[in-house]
Amino acid sequence: MLYYKFSDYLVKTYHEKVYKIPVNIPVKCPNRDGTISSEGCIFCGDEGAGFETLSPDIPVQEQLRRNISYISEKYHAKKYIAYFQNYTSTYCPADQFREFLLQAVIDDVVALYVSTRPDCLDDEYLEIMTEIQNNRNVDIVVEIGLQSVNNSTLSKLNRGHTITDFIDSVMRAKKFGLKTCAHMITDIPMDSIYDVIEGARLLSTLGVDQVKCHSLYILKDTKLGRWYSKGLFKPLDIGEFIERTITFLEYLSKDIVIQRLIGRAPEDRCLFCNWNTSWWKIVDEIEEKMKKQNRYQGKKAQFG
Ligand code: SF4
Repeated sequence: MLYYKFSDYLVKTYHEKVYKIPVNIPVKCPNRDGTISSEGCIFCGDEGAGFETLSPDIPVQEQLRRNISYISEKYHAKKYIAYFQNYTSTYCPADQFREFLLQAVIDDVVALYVSTRPDCLDDEYLEIMTEIQNNRNVDIVVEIGLQSVNNSTLSKLNRGHTITDFIDSVMRAKKFGLKTCAHMITDIPMDSIYDVIEGARLLSTLGVDQVKCHSLYILKDTKLGRWYSKGLFKPLDIGEFIERTITFLEYLSKDIVIQRLIGRAPEDRCLFCNWNTSWWKIVDEIEEKMKKQNRYQGKKAQFG
């Protein structure tokens, strides 16, 4: 096994293919609304991560039913994950948060994946998720944005949190019996390969359950986009991205599920994305190189 693919984990856990359906709720982000910063992370566009979602004005259950009806017909799908994807899902009053989650607990939804920031995961919200997980027969995974384990890089990205915030959030989520997924960008030019290795080692030591990797894409109307247009920022090349991603996998515990190796963004909103190459071609290249060089997830991991 080159790496622990999400699709394999889902079949092993739920005994068939499971489809992740994005849900959009009316929340913002404290790193954009002035609470922490009004500028947001330097790469974050106006829509947060919600390119593929329906309007947040549509009730959660209605969004899910519409998407499920389309996907079940197209792919003969039977089981689903409701993915609270956009901005910071826990950045709303606790009662409202509970209501959003409960609306997503419908037939054939086997898990709720809730994305948030490391500094927006108070115990009250963890308690709500644990209660729903225990009483409603649904798994809950907290997806936590980290991107880099280098505090200096986090500051340059204007993330507005530190590595300690992330460690604290994972440890508390685990204490509450919730699974966690870390979001990482493997080709941040401000990071060195040693930061990438340190990232894999930290996630392994903490016992994070899943990882979602991204490449750094550059959206229009972002600070990073303005730097890029003025020639002040140069992305790494594709070979470096592939090498860093493989190295990251080598130092990562073999038990951690890889949700994905590379993200994607809509072309019309991007100044730069994935070296104008399809994401699946890049994944193919990563896998080819791993096979050829006998490299695999966990090969150099100390933990697990
Ligand atoms: S934490 Fe997420 S939603 Fe908030 S500014 Fe950063 S990338 Fe955007």
